[in-house]
Amino acid sequence: MDCIFCKIINNEIPSKTIYEDEIVKVILDINPNADGHMLIIPKNHIDDFTKLDDNTLLHINKIANKMKDLIYNKLDNIKGLVLLNNYGEFQEVKHYHLHILPNGFNTKTKEIDEIYNELIS
Ligand code: AMP
Ligand code: ZN
Repeated sequence: MDCIFCKIINNEIPSKTIYEDEIVKVILDINPNADGHMLIIPKNHIDDFTKLDDNTLLHINKIANKMKDLIYNKLDNIKGLVLLNNYGEFQEVKHYHLHILPNGFNTKTKEIDEIYNELIS
């Protein structure tokens, strides 16, 4: 299947990986809308939120909570998060992913490498 997120999961395309386990991979969005804009991606190819099984959904929420702690611990002046799913014509990549936007939309101030180093330090 010609899916960019499956290629990222299989390490055929590089990514800035924040966290990984047997069920999900968390990467920084390549075109961030916020500092620390990340995507939680299930390793199984699931098209969109309507196809998500309960176990994967529960795990994604658990990892979102873990990423919340990481963001609050590592990044400065975090006031809140936006968690977002796109669907249908609004979903560009048809492999399910949960966006996490620290401090919400249009809040990017730093380069992605700088944020990556802060998050993994
Ligand atoms: P959407 O499917 O509409 O929720 O958006 C897909 C998101 O994936 C966009 O925010 C893109 O910037 C992001 N994206 C696309 N390709 C890559 C990639 N190779 N690495 C990281 N993020 C990506
Ligand atoms: Zn895929």
